[in-house]
Amino acid sequence: MGRLKDKVAIVTGASKGIGAGIARRLAAEGARVVVNYASNKNDADTVVAGIEAAGGSAVAVGADVTDSAQVASLIQAAIDHFGRLDIVVNNAGIYQFARIEETTEALYRQQFDINVLGPLLVAGAAAPHLGQGGSIINISSNVTRVPPAESAIYTGTKGAIDAITGVLSRELGPRGIRVNAVSPGLVETEGTHAAGVVGSAFQAWNEAQTPLGRIGQVQDIAPIVAFLASDDAGWVTGEVILGSGGMR
Ligand code: NAP
Repeated sequence: MGRLKDKVAIVTGASKGIGAGIARRLAAEGARVVVNYASNKNDADTVVAGIEAAGGSAVAVGADVTDSAQVASLIQAAIDHFGRLDIVVNNAGIYQFARIEETTEALYRQQFDINVLGPLLVAGAAAPHLGQGGSIINISSNVTRVPPAESAIYTGTKGAIDAITGVLSRELGPRGIRVNAVSPGLVETEGTHAAGVVGSAFQAWNEAQTPLGRIGQVQDIAPIVAFLASDDAGWVTGEVILGSGGMR
């Protein structure tokens, strides 16, 4: 598969979980990939080593997406290493559910900073480097369609991402840059394991509402992102595509 040959991609939060799966898939389809991480360099290096072992090209770059100076360095790293930038996947994100009575400024700021400010900073710094055929893909969540109790802040961040995707599709469309979002249902990742979601009543609640009868795997999401990144999706922008086994 060489559908992304000659393209360069940045995937934020690609040291594990959905982001790592996206990075592997984009590389398998021919893209050269910047594997971004926040603090776990070893995990990012492992993702890069796996891509290289499979014949692909990638580099690990640390940057906190909430810090504009670090974001500028991240974008510059793509240009320095690979000479161009075509694809940006805003995947880095966190989820911390809490009852409304337990809502704190810290919970709000941390999740909105990483999940909303981060993608805004990354898109803003990347846009000047993206030309005709450029593609920004924001990772949202199907919680905006089926909002779980005790997720007001997290679901709020993803609602913002859906809205921002529409805004940026109109703002950047005249420059030939497409902006779309992918909304996974519950996916088994390092993050959902750490949060205690895998194997919990929340997983059972998701499965019961999912026509395809299971939770997702990283491999269910990455191909949707690869499609949106590719010229096959050249007439698709402003879309929010559910990857949720039909849970809506
Ligand atoms: P994960 O396994 O917890 O991985 C999170 C990734 O984000 C890690 O690579 C982490 O880097 C990185 N990260 C965290 N904060 C960052 C920051 N400030 N700057 C840069 N990178 C940062 O997460 P996941 O479950 O794969 O979820 C990935 C995305 O999918 C999130 O946006 C999430 O909201 C969305 N999503 C997930 C699910 C699900 O069920 N898993 C469902 C719908 C949507 P380090 O390793 O360095 O910490």
